[in-house]
Amino acid sequence: MRYDIVIRNGTVIDGTGAAGKQRAVAIRAGRIAEVGELPDAVAADVVIDATGMVVCPGFIDAHNHAHVDVDKDILHEDNLVRQGITTLVAGNCGRSGWPVGEHLDKVDRLGMKQNYAMLAGHNTLRRALLGDNQAQFLDPWQIRAFQKLVDQAMEEGAFGVAAGYMRPYATNDELFAFARAAGRRGGLYASHIRSEDRHLLQAIAEIIELAQHAEAPVQISHLKTMNEPNWNKLDSVFHLIDDAVARGLRVCADRYPYTAWHGGSTNALPPIAYQIKQQRGSWQNLYDPDVVEVVREEVDAFWAEQGGPESLLFCSMKGDPMPEVENKTPGQLARAWNCDLLAVGIRLEEIGGISAIGRAMSEDNLKRILAHPLVCVGTDGHQEANKGVQTHPRNYGTFPRILGKYVRDEKVLDLPQAIRKMSAMVAAQFGFNDRGLLKPGLAADVVVFDPLQVRDKAEFGNAHQYPDGIPQVIVNGRFAVRDGVTTPENHGRALRKA
Ligand SMILES: [Zn+2]
Repeated sequence: MRYDIVIRNGTVIDGTGAAGKQRAVAIRAGRIAEVGELPDAVAADVVIDATGMVVCPGFIDAHNHAHVDVDKDILHEDNLVRQGITTLVAGNCGRSGWPVGEHLDKVDRLGMKQNYAMLAGHNTLRRALLGDNQAQFLDPWQIRAFQKLVDQAMEEGAFGVAAGYMRPYATNDELFAFARAAGRRGGLYASHIRSEDRHLLQAIAEIIELAQHAEAPVQISHLKTMNEPNWNKLDSVFHLIDDAVARGLRVCADRYPYTAWHGGSTNALPPIAYQIKQQRGSWQNLYDPDVVEVVREEVDAFWAEQGGPESLLFCSMKGDPMPEVENKTPGQLARAWNCDLLAVGIRLEEIGGISAIGRAMSEDNLKRILAHPLVCVGTDGHQEANKGVQTHPRNYGTFPRILGKYVRDEKVLDLPQAIRKMSAMVAAQFGFNDRGLLKPGLAADVVVFDPLQVRDKAEFGNAHQYPDGIPQVIVNGRFAVRDGVTTPENHGRALRKA
C-alpha cells in the first residue's frame, strides 16, 4: 500500500473543534487515505516531518471577490494559497461571473492555485434580466423570470446567491424571491447587508426575516459595526442573530481580522453630492448658490460620522500607481492641493479609478465578532496580480493574522475553534460535502503550519507581503506550497453544487 504523501509527527487538528492529537496523515489519489497511527515501514512518495507543526484541513475563504479576476483572465496568483486557503467562495456582494457554467469551465480550463466555488450575484442576474434598464420595480412576471435565472445558475453549479449594494428599487420582496429560488435547490443566500452603519439593526432584521420567508440559510457578509456612532450596537446585533438561530433559522456571518474596510470607489463625498451631480449634470453644480451651503454641511457631517478626514486612505484601481493620491488621506490632499474637502472629493471623482480604505471599525468589536460561535472567516479579498498599486493587507494576511495575532498572541479564541471557523464550519454552511475536515475519504486539502511562528506581515501601505510559518499547503492531494515556496502547477478546480 503506497501513499502519495505522508505527514508524520504533527499535531492533527481535524476541523471539528476537537483538541489536537499526535497523528499521521496519509494522502493518496487526491483524497485523505488515513488519519492515525502509521507503521514506520509504510511506503510514500513524499514524507513530511511535521514535528512541532499543526496539520489541519485547508482553509476555506467564505467571502472572496476573485470572480472579477477570473473575468480579467487573472487566475494564477498565490496571495490566497500562501495563507493556507485551499478553497474560496467568489461571487459575493451582488456581482459574479455569468453565465455560471461558462465561468466555472474557464476556471477548470486555465487552472487555479486553490479550489473555486461561486455564488450568483443579485446585480449580475438583475442585469441579465433587465439590461441597462435597472431602475424599475419587478412585477410578478419579472419575478418569475428572475427566479428562472437563479434556477439556471444553480443548475450550472452555483452554491447559492449573493446580494449587496442594493438600490432602493430592489425591494425586500424581490430579495425574498431571489433567495427562495436558491433555497429550493439547497443553496444559501449571502449578503453584504443593506446598511453596515446607521441602519445596521434594520438591515440585520431584514436578512433574518428573509431567512424565515425564503427558507434559505443566510450568510451575513463581513459583519461589522461601521463608524463610531454605531459601535455600541453590537450587543443588539448578536441578540437578533442568536434569537433567530434559537428559533431554528440558519444564520451565519463572516469577518476579516482588520478594522478598516476597502471599497471600490472613492467614498469621498456624501450621497447628496451624487444626487446633485446626476440632476444638474456637472460636479461644479455643487457650488450653485442655492445648494452649496447644504452641501458643505453634509460634507462636514459625512466626515464627522466616519472619524474625520484622516480616517481614509486612497489607492489606485488602475494598472499604474497614481503617486498623487496613493496612500494619501483626504486631509493630506486638501493641504497638498490647498483646497477644502468638497473640492478634494470632486477632484477625485474627476480623476476616477480610485478606491478607498477606511478605518472606521472598533478593535474590541472585531474581537467579539471573531469569537462569536456563528462567525466564520472570510478575506473579502481577491487575487493580487498588480503589486505596483496599494491594496488591503487582508489579501495576504487574513488567515495567518487570526492564527498568530488573535489566537496565539491575544487569545481571543482557541486554536481548534479558530480552525473550525476556517474549515468545517464554512464547508457545512456552503454545502461543500467532501471538504473541511481531516477525515479519510474526503478531498486532501491540507495545511501544515507552525503555531509558534505563524504571522501575517502585510500592512497598510505595504500590503504585498506573504505571511510566515505556513510551509506546506496541499490542494486536492498535491503541493500548492511546498517548504514555503509556491509550486508552479495549479491543482485547484471549480467546485459545482451536486
Ligand atoms: Zn461587501
